[in-house]
Amino acid sequence: MNKVFLLLGANLGNPATQLAKALEKIESQVGEIEACSSLYESEAWGVTDQPKFLNQVALVFTSLSPLDLLDKVQAIEDNLGRVRISKWGARVIDIDILYFNEDCIQHERLIVPHPYLPDRRFVLVPLSEIAPSFKHPKLGLTTVDLLAQCEDSLSVHPYNPNDNDAIQID
Ligand code: AMP
Repeated sequence: MNKVFLLLGANLGNPATQLAKALEKIESQVGEIEACSSLYESEAWGVTDQPKFLNQVALVFTSLSPLDLLDKVQAIEDNLGRVRISKWGARVIDIDILYFNEDCIQHERLIVPHPYLPDRRFVLVPLSEIAPSFKHPKLGLTTVDLLAQCEDSLSVHPYNPNDNDAIQID
């Protein structure tokens, strides 16, 4: 069985509901969800003039190969209404493959570990909740080490749906 960490993100529509639906589909189509982080509200990276994101990391056990996993998560994104418009733009759902076992994959469609993992707090903060001591197979550093040296200054907070400034639920 392959041990896979997925990053889920959404900032359009009803992000919390879309993340929950994505997790249901992952459980039924990808494999057993062993652990899930809390939800985090993150300032948008890259294109900042867009709503904040909700992010969550899941640990999943799957028998799928890396490319079959990519096909499956892209089909789940499409099924939940993802439209690929711009690289850093707003989205109904985004699912990225962070780690696939301790494999290093360099394929035209798939790079693992995900290349932006060490540089983004919106990945490292939820990942540190469920996998603080998992070692990045290329860098040899744990999630906690990566977070300590990460220079990203964009805010990542635990999601509180009762907060007035929190992402609005339709
Ligand atoms: P995004 O718009 O961030 O979802 O990027 C999707 C594109 O990134 C697709 O064309 C994928 O083939 C490619 N890609 C490369 N590496 C990964 C990865 N580790 N996880 C998800 N998508 C990836």
